[in-house]
This record gives sequence, C-alpha cells and structure tokens, in this order.
Amino acid sequence: MGAMFITAARRLGYRVAVWDPDPEAPAHKIADRSFSASFTDCSALEQFRSAVSAVTYEWENIPVAVTETLEQSVPVRPGSAILRVLQNRLGHKTFLAERGFPVAAFRAVSDPKDLTSTAAAIGFPCVCKTVTAGYDGKGQWRLSSVSEAANLQERLSHSASSNREWIVEQFLAFTKELSVLVVRTADGDRRVYPVADNVHEAGILRTTVVPAVIDGVIAERAQSIAIAAIDALNGVGVFCVELFLMPDGMLLINEIAPRPHNSGHYTLDACTVSQFEQQVRALCGLPLGEVRLLSSAAMVNLIGADMARASSEDGLIALLQVPGSTLHVYGKTSMRPGRKMGHVTFLAGHLEEARGAALHFQESLRASAAT
Ligand code: AMP
Repeated sequence: MGAMFITAARRLGYRVAVWDPDPEAPAHKIADRSFSASFTDCSALEQFRSAVSAVTYEWENIPVAVTETLEQSVPVRPGSAILRVLQNRLGHKTFLAERGFPVAAFRAVSDPKDLTSTAAAIGFPCVCKTVTAGYDGKGQWRLSSVSEAANLQERLSHSASSNREWIVEQFLAFTKELSVLVVRTADGDRRVYPVADNVHEAGILRTTVVPAVIDGVIAERAQSIAIAAIDALNGVGVFCVELFLMPDGMLLINEIAPRPHNSGHYTLDACTVSQFEQQVRALCGLPLGEVRLLSSAAMVNLIGADMARASSEDGLIALLQVPGSTLHVYGKTSMRPGRKMGHVTFLAGHLEEARGAALHFQESLRASAAT
C-alpha cells in the first residue's frame, strides 16, 4: 500500500520518504528517500523527521511513540491519539461501545487463567483475539466449547509471545461482511465511499464486490455509522470501517483501520479518486476528491501462490483477455502462504458481470492449484 500511496503522491507532484524496517518492502524501490532502520532507532527517527513535512502510514502497528515524536514537528495524520486507540483492540472496542456504537459483546482477559471463565461468560461460540498486533486472522481463535477454551488457556499460559492480553468476543453469525471507507479533513469535511461487500477466507480478505448487494436503507445506515465513528474519533485521513450485517438487518462495527484498506483497492480502477489519492489530499490539506463509482467492480486478492498462477504466461493471457480486468502486482520479493501478493479488479457495466468474471477467475486459480 505504501507503493500505491507513493504513486498517487508523485502524480500530484510530491516527493515521498518511506520508513519500513523491511528493506525488501516494495515501497523502498520507488521512494525518493528510504529508511529501513528499526522503529526504535532514535537517529533514524531524527533523520526521518528532518526529511519530511507531513507523515501518514499504512500500517497501524507502528509504535505510537514514533508518531508522538514526529507530531512535535510535522502534521501526522491520523494523529497519535487515534493510533493509540485503534491499535489496541480493547481500547478500540471500549471507545466504540462507550459512545453507543454497536459492537459484539466483549470482555478483556489479562491473565490466561481467566480465559475459560471469560469465554463461558460471553457464551459459545466466541472468538478470542490478541489485544495487539493481530491482523488477517492471526492471533485469533474461534472457541466452540469449554474444552476448546481450556485447551487454548493451556497453550496461552505456556506461550512465549509478548502479546499477553486478549479479548473474548461473541461469535457473530453474520450474513455479510461490509466495509466503508471514510475520508476526513482537519476541518471536518468528509467523503464516504460506497459500501463494499467482502468475503474472507481463513481470516484473510478474498474478494470485494462494490456496490454491496444490500438493501439501500442498510447501505445508508452503514455509511452513517461509519461517518459517525470517524467524527467521534475526530479522525483526519482515510479510515476503513469494517461492519458485520446480521440476519435481522442490524449492523455491528468489527474494527476501524486508520489507513487505506485492502477492501478499498477497487477505488484505484473504479472511482474518480482512489483511496490513496484521498490519503495524500487529507495529509497535505488539499480539497478532498469527489467520490464517484465509475463502474461496478469485483476485486480478487492474489494470496500466496495465486500470484505465480495468475502471472504465469497462460494465466496472464487468460486474465488479460477478460474485458475490464486489471492486474496489480505488488512486487514483494518473497512469497509466503497467506501473504497478499497482488490483486485483480474486474470492472463491468453490470455488477453481475463483474462478479461473474471474478468468480470464474477464482475457479481458474483453484483449478490450477489442484493440478
Ligand atoms: P479481524 O482481524 O478482527 O478483522 O477478524 C478477521 C476476520 O475474522 C473477520 O473479517 C471475520 O471474518 C472474522 N471475525 C472476526 N471477529 C468475528 C466475530 N466476532 N464473529 C464472527 N467472525 C469474526
């Protein structure tokens, strides 16, 4: 996502310095200045600070202390106070619940020995999540019974992981997972993107279809909840509000990402202004862009070995023959199972056409995985 941000910033005439401790991160290859020291390196922090006029991020697990230091000299958007709330699941859920936003019932666990009793109090099935550092379903366990909770309790009691806090939340039998991108300026001006309909597999986003096929009233409610949540945070920047739609039409917030989101990648090809350009605009105090969906869209993530299949000679020819298909290769040097390596967006005049092309493509990926 850093590389996508740089591309948008460059087009508007900016130069970009990137700080990512992973020297192989694709953004380094196109940055004007690169920093790959650890985030705890004080001299790198000083050099970075003197190199930049404004700071944003595309990963919410950066140390809050880094943003606090930078904030003393340059605008950091979203600010460190927001990052502090959102990078901690407990703080995040508590913030929302205290302000009346609908979230799944949850309880904190600060000692593994309390896990089973806390899970029983929430009721089964439930989900245990680490309070910090979890993403793409990592650090997350679905629990169906007391014995599963007791097993996990035993494992966590002996785990050497530094994440020693968890929350247990009610497992929601949702009908759909939705997301809404909200962009907000320091003056409180905001733009909201259409509701996206997301399908996850093993905790990782697999496909996004836009606009979501849901009742118009529910779509408006999802957008209103998302805007209200970002207003409550007084957020400046791009945010993605992830929601669960329940069978009775109720919407609950799962989490808020203080950055562009994978479910918003369709905006690169299907909207007047992408989420990355909005991030540049919000950061630099420019007017926000008009949000207009130019085409129905279906996005398919290329996860792990999918990339090799999609970009093989035959795969690439077949894919690029599909009208309205666009391949995005992230240029990550090492492939790992579960790692997002790229994505494909299918655009079409009718949503069903875009969705059909995406389904067909997914089937071809599955078929070539099986051979
Ligand atoms: P998260 O890391 O919290 O975004 O969770 C990753 C994925 O796990 C979500 O996109 C859902 O598919 C699933 N998930 C998370 N929390 C719950 C829940 N309380 N009930 C049901 N599924 C959940």
